[in-house]
Amino acid sequence: MATDGSDPIPPHKTFDTILVLDFGSQYSHLITRRLRELNVYCEMLPCTQKLAELDWTPKGVILSGGPYSVYWDDAPHVDPAVFELNVPILGICYGLQEIAWTFGKNVLAGEKREYGHAYLKIKRHGDGEAGGHVDKLFKDVEDDVEVWMSHGDKLSHLPEDFVSVATTSNAPFAGMAHKTKPLYGIQFHPEVTHTPKGKVILKNFAVDICQARTDWTMGKFVDQEIARIRALVGDKGQVIGAVSGGVDSTVAAKLMQEAIGDRFHAVLVDNGVLRLNEAKQVKETLTAGLGINLTVIDASERFLGRLKGVTDDPEKKRKIIGNTFIEVFQETAKNIAAEAQGSSKAGDIEWLLQGTLYPDVIESISFKGPSATIKTHHNVGGLPKDMNLKLIEPLRELFKDEVRELGTKLGIPEELVWRHPFPGPGIAIRILGEVTPEQVRIAREADYIFIEEIKAAGLYRKVSQAFAALLPVKAVGVMGDQRVHSQVIALRAVETSDFMTADWYPFDGAFLKNVSRRIVNEVNGVCRVVYDITSKPPGTIEME
Ligand code: GLN
Repeated sequence: MATDGSDPIPPHKTFDTILVLDFGSQYSHLITRRLRELNVYCEMLPCTQKLAELDWTPKGVILSGGPYSVYWDDAPHVDPAVFELNVPILGICYGLQEIAWTFGKNVLAGEKREYGHAYLKIKRHGDGEAGGHVDKLFKDVEDDVEVWMSHGDKLSHLPEDFVSVATTSNAPFAGMAHKTKPLYGIQFHPEVTHTPKGKVILKNFAVDICQARTDWTMGKFVDQEIARIRALVGDKGQVIGAVSGGVDSTVAAKLMQEAIGDRFHAVLVDNGVLRLNEAKQVKETLTAGLGINLTVIDASERFLGRLKGVTDDPEKKRKIIGNTFIEVFQETAKNIAAEAQGSSKAGDIEWLLQGTLYPDVIESISFKGPSATIKTHHNVGGLPKDMNLKLIEPLRELFKDEVRELGTKLGIPEELVWRHPFPGPGIAIRILGEVTPEQVRIAREADYIFIEEIKAAGLYRKVSQAFAALLPVKAVGVMGDQRVHSQVIALRAVETSDFMTADWYPFDGAFLKNVSRRIVNEVNGVCRVVYDITSKPPGTIEME
């Protein structure tokens, strides 16, 4: 949880843990996710991890896929000590080839590559010479199943003492198992949804073969995380952290409050470009609703003053807002620290809370190739190091959906738990052109109406992110028989599962008609509404 290496109770010491060694596949993190969905705790480390450096023992190890060919001179290889751990090992794709290479140097480029769907035929051995355990991986899986493949290399023959447990028309060794040891390899990817029985196979490995307990639940996580925070911070330590009203910072703040009460100081900086009534609402929810010790700083004037006259470069807006935020946060931290110092029950503020999630951690540790250096630390909040605070990151083991589940568990209102993402620079990057108080008013009011209608139509959770943007142009209209020349609102709403690619949401005509009518009627200064039908790519989700 803390990045200074002083974690007192890491989850891999509390929960049975499956270790995923990442060879750089784009799906490696999905293996981790699938196991967590089965309530089995799982952590990922780069394939180059030296096992002697781990101070814990996994219940089992999964070797992921990867873009290399095991027979290349510079291909990455697992620490051979993994085979001495005496725990079950499952190789997936490159991982299977890595096991085969270790035991038989028998991998070569296939004549036919296999990408996409394939049909797997399972070969059961019963209690024969190979021993009953080789069938365990495919328990509760039919004899013929659809799987998803993505490979060009293949095994020329099985390594000694292995048997084939599955075939496809192209790959006679699509699945293999060691006759006596719990070593398994599969050529297909069980972690992707295109392999319908993939989760059963992963469960067979983790729960039946590795015997991992299925106790990774949010209830248990909360208890152990609170104990962990208390152990780390001590009974006098104080923590400060910025909150935004978004799900991650709110969940992190609530967890801190449960652990150390008012010794956690939350700070909300009102930068003048939050959504309509947002600062007020966040304050109410966090203080009255959740009991969090919150200081709200209204710095709107400072932000808007600095944004004045910036018309050309959107990056400049982002920089101004980022730098001003750091400035205001630092000032506030100093004031809070000065106030807190006099109190007898607490010590100095030594810690800074950050809402880092597991995908950020994975991003910073995942294996990027033999030549790429691996980033060791990823400071997501971008706060300066000279603040001299130690980081505390209670969400750094969680995926986004786990954070939502945790939020619900901690009594955070559903509306907040399912809130759409909102960018740090706020609606400043949704006002194309200069950000003035008047433009902020227009963009805010239009956005409020759009989101209100999306919620009323029951679509808020179907849409991944939606907002109204104010375009830097004027158009002609007729209102009340008068010619008007006023501004244009662009609505944007996207559907996406990972925010890397996205498609615009297909609202029906009546819905759009109603939103457009309301915006033109209720928001002074707008005479036209358009709907953005650009996917990502080539568009981005935000407009600036
Ligand atoms: N590079 C290897 C192959 O093409 C492994 C691919 C993978 O792990 N997806 O067979």
